[in-house]
Amino acid sequence: MSRLLFAANWKMHHAPAAAREVVRAVLARHRPQPDRELIFYPPAVSLGVVVEEIKGRRDAAAGVQNVHWEPKGAFTGEISAPIAAAAGAVWALVGHSERRHKFGETDAETGKKVRAALAAGLKPMLCVGELIEERRAGRTEEVVLRQLAAGLADLDAAATARVAIAYEPVWAIGTGVNATPADAAAVHRVIRGWLAQRTPPGARAAILYGGSVNADNAAALLAEDELDGVLVGGASLEAESWLKILAAPRATR
Ligand code: PEP
Repeated sequence: MSRLLFAANWKMHHAPAAAREVVRAVLARHRPQPDRELIFYPPAVSLGVVVEEIKGRRDAAAGVQNVHWEPKGAFTGEISAPIAAAAGAVWALVGHSERRHKFGETDAETGKKVRAALAAGLKPMLCVGELIEERRAGRTEEVVLRQLAAGLADLDAAATARVAIAYEPVWAIGTGVNATPADAAAVHRVIRGWLAQRTPPGARAAILYGGSVNADNAAALLAEDELDGVLVGGASLEAESWLKILAAPRATR
């Protein structure tokens, strides 16, 4: 059975002390389960304490919210994939909608970041998703496939299979309006179909849904066989709500 991924994107929240407190509270009450993996994406300065707190928990990993594509150099304020890996990150988010739409990250840059993450031995989690205007114009599939093609450019089939995809419709992030389970599953099927042609036969891509997932809607979303996990912002910040999401039953495959 493939593992469900529960990824917590803390964005610009939780200094080291608060990060330690939340991870401790979550891990104290969430016993390891063979079918689920927890991923914490704290702000980079809190990565060290998260790595310390998850030590010994094979079901938990830490990651960074962004990486630069160069391995080192004069890039003030940036973090390279090898530095993130050396600091204990296992995962790297790439192309989060806030990076794309608030910081102007381009499709081509996401491709460079995915390749840099893979080269450093990190597992990239590439975020894709359409704006509300694009959805209304019937362009969801076109946008998502364009972002996938750019983010996964120049990778062979084995490397492509190592990248997790987070489908995060931009209109659902931080808005309290989540995609319906059926709408999320429909886009996941498009992504899965595209990936199936570019990954080794039999490989199941990990495709997560993100966008206003919370304790009340997680079970309905995860009842969709298409979802291999969830990427959660606001509702992952507090132990109580995150624990409820982690307890959501999975679809029977
Ligand atoms: C996110 O930051 O990736 C996200 C999905 O945020 P939220 O759960 O708050 O919508």
